[in-house]
Amino acid sequence: MTELDVAIVGAGPAGLFAAYELSSYVAKGAIRVAVIDKGRHVDKRRCPLFNQRRKVREGTCNSCNPCNILYGLGGAGALSSGTINLRPDVGGDLDKLVGSWEEAEELIRYIDSVFVKFGAPNNVFRIDSSAASELERLAAKAGAKFVPTPQRYMGSDNTPRVIKNMYDHLVRCGIRFYLETEVLDIARASDGLYELKTSRGVLRARYLILAPGRGGAPWFSEVARRLGIEVEPGPLDIGVRVEVPAYITEPVTSIVRDPKIIMYTRVYDDKVRTFCTNPNGFVVKELYSDGTTGVNGESYETIKSKNTNFALLVTIKLTDPLEDTIAYGKYIAGLATKLGGGKPIIQRFGDLEAGRRSTWSRVERSSVEPTLKDVTPGDIGMAYPYRVIANIIEAMKRLDTIMPGVASQQTLLYAPEIKFYSVRAVVNRDLETTASNVFAAGDGAGLSRGINVAAATGVIAARGVLKKMGLSS
Ligand SMILES: Cc1cc2nc3c(=O)[nH]c(=O)nc-3n(C[C@H](O)[C@H](O)[C@H](O)COP(=O)(O)OP(=O)(O)OC[C@H]3O[C@@H](n4cnc5c(N)ncnc54)[C@H](O)[C@@H]3O)c2cc1C
Repeated sequence: MTELDVAIVGAGPAGLFAAYELSSYVAKGAIRVAVIDKGRHVDKRRCPLFNQRRKVREGTCNSCNPCNILYGLGGAGALSSGTINLRPDVGGDLDKLVGSWEEAEELIRYIDSVFVKFGAPNNVFRIDSSAASELERLAAKAGAKFVPTPQRYMGSDNTPRVIKNMYDHLVRCGIRFYLETEVLDIARASDGLYELKTSRGVLRARYLILAPGRGGAPWFSEVARRLGIEVEPGPLDIGVRVEVPAYITEPVTSIVRDPKIIMYTRVYDDKVRTFCTNPNGFVVKELYSDGTTGVNGESYETIKSKNTNFALLVTIKLTDPLEDTIAYGKYIAGLATKLGGGKPIIQRFGDLEAGRRSTWSRVERSSVEPTLKDVTPGDIGMAYPYRVIANIIEAMKRLDTIMPGVASQQTLLYAPEIKFYSVRAVVNRDLETTASNVFAAGDGAGLSRGINVAAATGVIAARGVLKKMGLSS
């Protein structure tokens, strides 16, 4: 049976950066580290439903189980536009996690430098201060807040290459990768080591870094329950992916590619925010292992559409007696999937406002041509709670002050777009959980919401492990 010092579950940004932080000790022969991921090598990650361009360019895959968009080397970010938010409070709350803004900023700079080391292009979008002031003024007029965020943009064409370079380096250092290997269960043996029951046999390790990502969040909460890891309920982000002609958002996206706009709605005082903007991008479909579907957005350096898409997300918090936001979100995703006949729902904003379903003939009359066609025209109002719909309609109208034309009748909305961050591991400053020697990192443990902070939590967890081992980072 293979015995390790550290087993890292998940090869997303959190897992890879944890491995990177340990790699110099592995290279010296001081420790044995393995990364286990149920998905494929990044070179093998294809999805015929993801977008037809990729299919034509690179051939058709035979299997989508597990889903290639969410699972595999590089994690959920591997096929993404690879936008690295260079702020600690975007993509998570790193400043709150480490307890200092300066320390958190320093970590983000470090993460960025590692991405650059492995080939991230020198493509940083910074906002000049007068443009930022103008956007802040416009946002204030809409009763919203604009958060200026410098971003490194890798592009979906480059992100897999950067991940591959990092993987090759880690392998050269001696880190063992078990890909296409699912960790089914974890138990603590009588000698204090953890036994990982995987789809390919059992591994034993003294320390664990659990970084299973958003797709692995239900698995994480199950394992947490069995290992006695304390968790607390987290929020749920539920909303739509908005698609408009690129010229509508251009006055703003030419200043900042991925504008972060936050507002609180008038009736419910709920937080609504824009997220993951893709100028000249594509809406993509996601398939989850529980059979539900969802949407997301992508953009490429070389292939451009005429549209911009972004997520508009409402943050929901639940209290007693139903605190389980994962179950609540899954229920809504299931309902939307059912109503869409197994596909995401598309609806014109005008139809949503008027309370009627969209049909293909109505969508075809829209001035926006959908970039995702594998959808069902329908009524998002039938799948989402009234409160979420009311928040979305209000937020769209307020966004129209900042980007005139966004709330046009023709604007396309896709659903479900749901971000599960639900269960949050209770951790100390080193990200060690309440189970001794078990560390948590990334989206799956509710500690991040983006590549930047996921990677940073991987680094913190790995440094925590080194500290416990008596090795300094
Ligand atoms: C299409 C898309 C586009 C995105 N674009 C951006 C962007 O531009 N910028 C940004 O900041 N964020 C983006 N995000 C979000 C970002 O990808 C995530 O926040 C980030 O990847 C989280 O990192 P992670 O390491 O925590 O988890 P993940 O990246 O999800 O990685 C977790 C890994 O764990 C593995 N795993 C799960 N369970 C098990 C198990 N039981 N056994 C073995 N392996 C397991 C999975 O296969 C997966 O590879 C995007 C997400 C998607 C889906």
